[in-house]
Amino acid sequence: MGFETLLGNDRLKENLSRSLARGHISHFYLICGPEGSGKRTLARLLAAAILCKGADRPCGSCLPCRKVAEGNHPDCITVDDPEKKTVPVELIRQARADMYVLPNESDHKIYVFPRAQDMGLPGQNALLKVLEEPPEYGVFLLLTDNPDKLLPTVRSRCVELRLQALPEPVLRSALAKEFPEAGGEDLAAAMQRSGGFLGQARILLREGGAALPQTAALVQALSEKDSLQLMNVLVPMEKWKRDDLAAILAQWQALLEEALVCRSGAEAVSKLARQLARERTGEELLDCIAHVQKALEYTQSNVSPGAVCGYLEWTLRGPGR
Ligand SMILES: [Zn+2]
Repeated sequence: MGFETLLGNDRLKENLSRSLARGHISHFYLICGPEGSGKRTLARLLAAAILCKGADRPCGSCLPCRKVAEGNHPDCITVDDPEKKTVPVELIRQARADMYVLPNESDHKIYVFPRAQDMGLPGQNALLKVLEEPPEYGVFLLLTDNPDKLLPTVRSRCVELRLQALPEPVLRSALAKEFPEAGGEDLAAAMQRSGGFLGQARILLREGGAALPQTAALVQALSEKDSLQLMNVLVPMEKWKRDDLAAILAQWQALLEEALVCRSGAEAVSKLARQLARERTGEELLDCIAHVQKALEYTQSNVSPGAVCGYLEWTLRGPGR
C-alpha cells in the first residue's frame, strides 16, 4: 500500500518510502503545509510505516497499521488539547517524561504534535530538551502550517517534509469522486479558491455551492452599497465562534480577490465574484480586501468576534458613509 492514500506529493512519498525501506528513520520530522494540505494524513501514514510489521510499509492491514489508523496504538501518542489556544506546556512536559518510558509493543514510540506553531515559547523550550537527546526509539512528528513560528533550534533538528498543492487533474478527480452531485462551476470555484489543497476544497464544497448564505448577502450589500443590508449580514455574526468567523472571512477575502482579478480582464469562475467586479471599482475592491484582511488578522489574534464584526460594519460601508 505505501503512502498512496496521500494524494499528489509524488516525490515526497518516493523519498520517504525509499529511506524507510533502507531502515532510515529520523527522530524528528517537521510536516509543513497549509490548512487542508494533508499534514494529518501524512503523519498517520508515516507513524503507521514506522510501526508496521508488514511489507511495503505502511501495509495498511497489519495490526499496528490498523491501530494507528483507528487512533489507538499505544506507541503513537498525540500531544494536544484542541480546547486550548496554546498547546499546554504541561502536556509537552508530560510527553517529555513519558518518552523515557520504553515503548509498549513496538520498537518505536511516536509523539505527534498536530499544531506545532501553537506550542508557545515555553512549550518549544520544553520540547527542545528532548530534541537534544532523544531516546533511541523516540520519533517526533511536528505538524505546522507556519514553520516560521518555530524556534530555529527546533526547526534545524527536523527533517522537513513539505506538502505541495495537488496537480489540477488529481484534485479534480478526487473532488468529483467525493462530491458526485456538485456542478462543474462549483467544482471549478472550489478548486480555484482552495489553492490546490484538497482539505480546503472539501470545506468549500461542503459549505454548499462554495458560498455561504452570508457570503451571497454580503455581495448583494456591497453591490448595492446598501449599508443596512451590510448590518443585517454582520450583526448576527458578532455571536459566531472565532473559527467560523475566520473561515468565512477567508472565503470573503478569496472572493474579493477573485473579483479584483476579474476586473483586470481575467475570467472569474464564481458568479458572485463577477457580480462584484461589475458593481465596484478596482480601488473599492482593494479597500474591501484590506479591511477583510485586517479583520482576519484580528480574528486570529485576541480580538472578539463582536469587535471584528463591528470593525467591518464600519469600514465596509466605504467612503460617503
Ligand atoms: Zn502494516
